[in-house]
Amino acid sequence: MKKIQMVDLKSQYLKIKEDVDRGIQEVIDTTSFVKGGKVVEFQQELEKYLGVKHVIPTGNGTDALQIALMGLGLQRGDEVITPTFTFIATAEVVALLGLTPVVVDVDPETFNMSVEAVRKAITPKTKAIVPVHLFGQCADMQALMDLAKEHNLYVVEDACQSIGSKYIFDDGRVCQSGCIGNIGCTSFFPSKNLGCYGDGGAIFTNDDDLAARMRAIANHGMVVRYHHDLIGVNSRLDSIQAAVLQAKLPHLDEYIAARQSAAAYYDKAFAGNPHITTPYRDPKSTHVFHQYTLKLSGVDRNAVQAQLKEKGIPAMIYYPVPLHLQKAYQDPRYKQGDFPVAEELCATVLSLPMHTELDEEQLKYITDAVLEAVNQ
Ligand SMILES: *Cc1c(COP(=O)(O)O)cnc(C)c1O
Repeated sequence: MKKIQMVDLKSQYLKIKEDVDRGIQEVIDTTSFVKGGKVVEFQQELEKYLGVKHVIPTGNGTDALQIALMGLGLQRGDEVITPTFTFIATAEVVALLGLTPVVVDVDPETFNMSVEAVRKAITPKTKAIVPVHLFGQCADMQALMDLAKEHNLYVVEDACQSIGSKYIFDDGRVCQSGCIGNIGCTSFFPSKNLGCYGDGGAIFTNDDDLAARMRAIANHGMVVRYHHDLIGVNSRLDSIQAAVLQAKLPHLDEYIAARQSAAAYYDKAFAGNPHITTPYRDPKSTHVFHQYTLKLSGVDRNAVQAQLKEKGIPAMIYYPVPLHLQKAYQDPRYKQGDFPVAEELCATVLSLPMHTELDEEQLKYITDAVLEAVNQ
């Protein structure tokens, strides 16, 4: 049996090696390393795939989020609502910009931001909501967009884990995740569903003015060369990463299908086990399984993880600590017990290996080992 990894990028690479190698070689041959033709080509290919007007490539997903908030022109003290159960970057950029992160609890089934909690957290200072499409399934965008409209708020989607996931509105309209709010952000970190071989990210928007502002901000606030109209940053996708992404984008749907099929295998194997809750499927969203995350009950989650490790099966805890209990984010407004769903998830979730190259032999080995560990 092939060694089991959380993510198997090597096997994936071997299947597209020729395309990747050729793309990288072309970048080297043309020495067009930054702002090269491949970045523009990839940008346009991604715009087409997503059906969005503007894709703005960035250096990574965290920069994408930061540039998005800068593009909205928020002021110090403005409040931005984020879920407390997410990767730190979502709130980090809010804090870095001197904005006030307001955290809310999540839904126990979807793990995504609770719309009721967002409603309660809105104050006159609230300017934006940042839903995270956690583990690859869209947050309740219909309700969040309605709420944002009602209170005149911006919506910046953190789609770093959800590229290719589709949201279905009540009226049947289908939208790609990241292309629903005013702005969407994604990451091309290697382990993400569309990952490059280093760092990369992108911003999505259908708003021409916002796109122009954010494109300038990502480039030192420059519109005309050496004339700086805005305070910006330096954040760009490099051409070699664009070449890798160009080779991978045509396979994204097939990668998603492979993840969904591994998830279906897991679901079936764990069905009915009293200790395991398998990932909830929201009928309003497709799930692209950036992670396949179980909730365990009546067992010692950490002991299960250790037992799997002994058998050569990596399993990860995403995430062990919610934002409001992180040292750097201590805030007198929040204390332990304030967000019980997120706190409970941090204590009970376990993510299993999930990637495009899992085979049946590996899946059987993993599911047998998980069942043995929880049934003891
Ligand atoms: C990965 C990730 C980010 C940050 O992306 P980087 O490219 O690593 O900066 C932000 N938010 C979420 C939810 C993520 O998973």
